[in-house]
Amino acid sequence: MSMFCFQCKQTAKGTGCTIGGVCGKKVDTANLLDAMTGKLVALAIAVNGKNTAKTDELMIDGLFTAITNVNFNDESIAKLEIKIDAEIKKYGDYKETDMKAIWDGDEDIRSLKSLILFGLRGMAAYAHHAKILGKSDKNVNAFFYKAMAAIGQEHTADELLALVIELGNVNLACMALLDDANTSTYGHPVPVKVTTNIEKGPFIVVTGHDLKDLELLLKQTEGKGINIYTHGEMLPAHGYPELKKYAHLIGNFGTAWQNQQKEFDNIPG
Ligand code: SF4
Repeated sequence: MSMFCFQCKQTAKGTGCTIGGVCGKKVDTANLLDAMTGKLVALAIAVNGKNTAKTDELMIDGLFTAITNVNFNDESIAKLEIKIDAEIKKYGDYKETDMKAIWDGDEDIRSLKSLILFGLRGMAAYAHHAKILGKSDKNVNAFFYKAMAAIGQEHTADELLALVIELGNVNLACMALLDDANTSTYGHPVPVKVTTNIEKGPFIVVTGHDLKDLELLLKQTEGKGINIYTHGEMLPAHGYPELKKYAHLIGNFGTAWQNQQKEFDNIPG
């Protein structure tokens, strides 16, 4: 059994991870993520303009789940796929989309559909984090269905290219949405110096992008003698006034996301 993933620049030999991800993603996990993505395409086609809060949640969370190293838990991916499947069936019969047919298809169409899919996954991360902080945008949500449906349908390269351009514009709106969510909750970020030294004593390392999770952890650990370190993309959290006010948000551990598994296995202490 093999896999195919070329969604990030760490991809093996610059062409694609096929026997396991450079990021640590296993073959089974990659194939589960493909199957779940195929269901999301089917959901987008089935919904046909009648999206609900439930389908929005599944669409955004499903796309976000499939980004690089967000979720390697096979059980939770399989559960999400079952939920998507149940939701699609409320709209009637549907045709499965086999992602392998896209990976093995015409190279121009594959490139354009991949560009759309990876762009949507990135946009879903922004939409997911904005939603956690209470912000959403119905035009952004509607575009997820339009573009995911296109991945499962026949389109010319010109049509897909137009969709790529549209995705860029919608993505900008989604980034503005997240910026508004972050800055209205945690204030406008300011430049700060962040140490990479690890102090003696108990500590917790937080990775990912979820500022709300970090905030909750900071509140729960305040005054308990536990230091909190960011990792990877959580580094910018140090700049937000409402997060940096916690004295035990003390520094940053490690390097970039793709080294997460290796670095977490070797956390000192
Ligand atoms: S996300 Fe992981 S499996 Fe996919 S291309 Fe990047 S390193 Fe390879």
